[in-house]
Amino acid sequence: MSGDVLVSARGLEVHFPVGGRGFRRKPAGLLRAVDGVDLDIHRGETLGLVGESGCGKSTLGNALLRLVPTTGGTLTFDGTDLTGLEGRRLKELRRRAGMVFQDPFASLDPRRTVAQTVGEPLEVHGLRTGKRARADRVAELLELVGLDPGVAGRYPHEFSGGQRQRVGIARALAGEPDFLVCDEAIASLDVSVQAQVLNLLRRLQRQLGLTLLFISHDLSAVRHISDRIAVMYLGRIVEVGPARAVGTDPQMPYTQALLSAVPLPHPKLERERKRIVLTGDVPSPAAVPSGCRFRTRCPYAFEPCDDVDPALQSVGAPGQQAACHLHGVVGAPAAAPEGVTATP
Ligand code: SF4
Repeated sequence: MSGDVLVSARGLEVHFPVGGRGFRRKPAGLLRAVDGVDLDIHRGETLGLVGESGCGKSTLGNALLRLVPTTGGTLTFDGTDLTGLEGRRLKELRRRAGMVFQDPFASLDPRRTVAQTVGEPLEVHGLRTGKRARADRVAELLELVGLDPGVAGRYPHEFSGGQRQRVGIARALAGEPDFLVCDEAIASLDVSVQAQVLNLLRRLQRQLGLTLLFISHDLSAVRHISDRIAVMYLGRIVEVGPARAVGTDPQMPYTQALLSAVPLPHPKLERERKRIVLTGDVPSPAAVPSGCRFRTRCPYAFEPCDDVDPALQSVGAPGQQAACHLHGVVGAPAAAPEGVTATP
C-alpha cells in the first residue's frame, strides 16, 4: 500500500430535501445521508467501509463516483476537484472509477449477451475500436475474472449468481479503472460463493494495482479483504484505521458492538465472549441526534455526549482514529458498565 492519496473527501455532504407541501414545495427537512465525511483512500489499498443498513455507506460510495450530487464539502480524485466536474472530464473520471453492484442479476441487462455487456464500456470510452479488437479484449476480461471466454455469447439467465457477479466485475474492469467501488458485492451470493468472489477481488486488486472501496455490513468479510477499515454511523465516519487494529482493538463503542456480533469459530469462545447488544434501530438521518450521533444507543454515553459532536482523533494503534469522548474528556467513564445495554 502506498501513502499516496487517490480519493479524498473533506466535510462531504449528501443531503436530500424531504417533505414539504404547497405550490413552492418548501422542504420540511433534510435527510442527511452523508453528513460531513472526512476520508482518504490511498492508492493501491483496499478500504473496507462497514456499518448497519441505512447508515449511508452506499450513498457515500455513489457520491465518491459522482453518481449522486454532493451538497457540501470537497471531493478530489487523483488531485482533481470533482465537485462541479462536467462533460469530457467527468466521462474520464467514469472510466477511471468503476462500480460492482450488489445484485448482479438486476445490474445486468437480460437482453444483452455477456460480450455486449462487458464490451459496452470499451465502446463508450473508445478503448478498443473494431469488432475483432473488442472481442479479444472481452475474452481477456472474462479470463481475468475466471470465466471461460467461450461464454461471451450467453445471456445473464444462463449463469449462476457467482458467475453473474464475475461478469459484473469484468464489466467494471473494462474501462481499465484505478478505483473500484464494490457495494455489498457479495451480499446476494450463497455463502459458499462469497469466499470465491472475495478472493477474486483480492487477487485482482493486487494483480492490477487497483484501489478498492469494499462496502459491506459484514465485518468479517471486510476484515478478510481490507488493508484499512472505516466504520460509518448515521452519515459519518466514526472510526478508521488499519484492519488489524480496528478488527481486534476497536476504540469506538459502535465498532465494539459490531465486532461483538461477529460469530467466533469455536463454540467455547462464543460462550465466553461479552456481547454488546445495541437496542433500537439507527435513528432517522432526517433527525440526527444532537452531540454524538451514537448517544441514543451507546452504553457508555455520559454528559458531554449530549451536546458536543466528537471529532475523529488519533487513538489506539498508529493510523487509527475514533470519534468518541471516551478518549480525552476529563470525567469519561473508564470502563464499560456491566451487562451492557444501550441507553433509551
Ligand atoms: Fe458513546 Fe459518548 Fe463515545 Fe458517542 S462520544 S460513542 S455517546 S461515549
